[in-house]
Amino acid sequence: MNKLFSNNVNNVEISGIRKFFNKVTKVQGAISLTLGQPDFPVPKNIKNAMIKAINENKTEYTANAGIPELRDEISKFLQSMDIRYLADEITVTVGGSEALLCIFAAFLNAGDKVLVPTPAYPAYESCVKIFGAEVVNYNLNKDFTINFDSIIKLIDEENPKLIVMSHPSNPTGAILSRFERDKLFEILKDKDIHIISDEMYSSLCYEKYYSLAQIDELRNKVILVGGFSKMFSMTGLRVGYVCASKYIMDSIMKVHQYNVSCATSISQWGAYEGLLSSMNDVNNMKVEFEMRKEYVYKRLKQMGMDTTLPKGAFYIFPSITRFSMSSEEFCNRLLHEGKVAVVPGSAFGTGGEGFIRISYSYSLEVLKEGLDRMEKWLKTL
Ligand code: PLP
Repeated sequence: MNKLFSNNVNNVEISGIRKFFNKVTKVQGAISLTLGQPDFPVPKNIKNAMIKAINENKTEYTANAGIPELRDEISKFLQSMDIRYLADEITVTVGGSEALLCIFAAFLNAGDKVLVPTPAYPAYESCVKIFGAEVVNYNLNKDFTINFDSIIKLIDEENPKLIVMSHPSNPTGAILSRFERDKLFEILKDKDIHIISDEMYSSLCYEKYYSLAQIDELRNKVILVGGFSKMFSMTGLRVGYVCASKYIMDSIMKVHQYNVSCATSISQWGAYEGLLSSMNDVNNMKVEFEMRKEYVYKRLKQMGMDTTLPKGAFYIFPSITRFSMSSEEFCNRLLHEGKVAVVPGSAFGTGGEGFIRISYSYSLEVLKEGLDRMEKWLKTL
């Protein structure tokens, strides 16, 4: 253990997704299906709004919570999904990542426990560890739906302070059904627990949208995380948001304020314009992703892969257990022998072992080539 650095930080590993992405560049001719980044350009209106913001010198600090125009539009956007937060209950952050870190910082003391699904986006576990708190994993069902018994048992036994929900899910593509939402409400309503609902992929849901944030009785317990990285294909522009009741937001704000002061002014104006005039682009991207999802699912099924059809986001998470290899070994061999990079499921926690994550945020052409190569390689096993 390196004594120079915080024990908590020593305890955190670098992201397995990045690790694999970095390996691809070293394998000549390999193609990558690893990243969670849409392959579309930022919508034109958003680009123009950012250029205009620069020319109008809108380059100063904004309010800590973000520009009021954007917070108003986020409030309206959420309302279109039956989620009600006033502009005052919304803080614009530097991507969803900063929102998550601020929430964990605001809530956690060393030794606190946080329920995190497994498999899940790796940042939850790492953020919890950074604050010296403890991750308690809850399992999902075989089709990646919520395992209620696991949650009920762990809340009773472990007394966690927070539970993380993440729908549509990275890496599984699962969404929250109406049944799951209502059942979770029954389970959580009388418990002394707060819920982080990460809804980063809300604009990419291929069925009707459900969220715990839609339930008014849970208002004081839910903290919603959203953002524009995926929605407007603007990952590098770093705009996300957190929504919560005022008394919760006051604490989150203390962290956000001393962390970044505010999200980048220019990017905020871009996201604002996006909500005003780029929803058609969002819809077009969704149509394209849905087509790719169907294609990738069909191809994997044809290869005999055991795969659940994703209902949101742009990832698919097939099982590889029948190949009797760890997910790391499978991905290493696929990369070196088959020249395709996908992410080992183990990068998403213990529940991800036995799976691989394929991102379909790549063009159909790249997906076809990647899947052709994978099919060919599988035949050599
Ligand atoms: N939450 C989930 C589930 C994600 O997959 C990601 C990014 O991949 C984030 C949050 C962070 O998003 P951002 O790029 O806005 O920080």
